[in-house]
Amino acid sequence: MITTDLVALEERYGAHNYHPLDVVITRGEGVWVYDVDGRRYLDCLAAYSAVNQGHCHPRILHALTAQAARVTLTSRAFRNEQLPLLLERLHSLTGMDLALLMNSGAEAVETALKAARKWGYTVKGIPDGQAEIIVCANNFHGRTIAIVGFSTEEQYRQGFGPFAPGFRVVPFGDIAALEQAITPSTCAFLVEPIQGEAGIIVPPEGYLRAAADLCKRHDVLFIVDEIQSGLGRTGRLFAHQYEDVTPDAMILGKALSGGFYPVSAVVSRREVLGVFKPGDHGSTFGGNPLACAVARAALDVLEDERLPERAATLGAEMLEKVRAIASPVIKEVRGRGLWIGIELHEAARPWCERLAARGILCKETHDRVIRLAPPLVIAREEIDWAVNEIHQVLTGAR
Ligand SMILES: *Cc1c(COP(=O)(O)O)cnc(C)c1O
Repeated sequence: MITTDLVALEERYGAHNYHPLDVVITRGEGVWVYDVDGRRYLDCLAAYSAVNQGHCHPRILHALTAQAARVTLTSRAFRNEQLPLLLERLHSLTGMDLALLMNSGAEAVETALKAARKWGYTVKGIPDGQAEIIVCANNFHGRTIAIVGFSTEEQYRQGFGPFAPGFRVVPFGDIAALEQAITPSTCAFLVEPIQGEAGIIVPPEGYLRAAADLCKRHDVLFIVDEIQSGLGRTGRLFAHQYEDVTPDAMILGKALSGGFYPVSAVVSRREVLGVFKPGDHGSTFGGNPLACAVARAALDVLEDERLPERAATLGAEMLEKVRAIASPVIKEVRGRGLWIGIELHEAARPWCERLAARGILCKETHDRVIRLAPPLVIAREEIDWAVNEIHQVLTGAR
């Protein structure tokens, strides 16, 4: 079937909760994807950073097919031989004591929220039912009812209330506001080290350091959502490492599976995930052997191919090249590693459509920002080609 037929089927029978570009992908390899009409595109979104390792990485593919032929799901009613190996790997990779495996990012965020509240009651001694969690304005942590309940994006909330109480919102990057919001009932501060969906917003230097210190002083858990910023995207394994802080808990997802399978995790100090007792929390698919085998291979690829280092070097070069584009539609270019936001003076969607027509796939975020986040395996020549196309499109040369 060709693009128009497939788009028509999807529009007719699917819920319209997305507004995708009309590019119907049939195959992917490394940084490239191919549509059903035979056109080739450089993927500059990488599935919101889930495909940092590149599409269909052969090592991860091998881990997937080998494990799929052995056993895929045992449930946590029994043990499987892959989970312990991934847990040990996450420990050595992050230095954290404990990990808990889930599937989607939102589920891992929910898991962290539950752990934080229970820690608040059982360890900190917050009176029952009073625990509060502080989050940031313009956050993105997923789409469950609890999570959209503390979003500041009206569309994410509209029509989905009533919401869970116990959340307080402070401006991102504002340490004084965070200090003012902390009360004896605060159990945690949940923050993205760089806000991705908000448009690649990098906080002022020293913010994470100051926030971590503040949390420590007030016995508040400092929890970082590294689902999109983590696993190499920013040029470090984790974005919070730029400020040399140690969070109490960290949430991972997306690239944890290299895009093959939904795998997410919370990793933490012993005291945090240690609050869970048998029966407190769970997931049928969480920690299944297929997911664990895939995740271990995905982490091996990140490490062996030195993808964070690539993101640091190539990202700095790419940022410089994008900043050099002189176009009246560009308001600001910002980013870290291979994660670049081009903020425009106008809606970004038509520009993304023009870029797609030139063979570059990217997606607008927050109306006016073009996010560039290619797989970290991208080559310098591919970056140069992409930047040249972006230049031509944004300066109206084509
Ligand atoms: C994508 C994302 C999530 C949600 O992950 P899903 O797998 O879509 O549920 C949460 N937090 C951040 C920072 C994200 O980028």
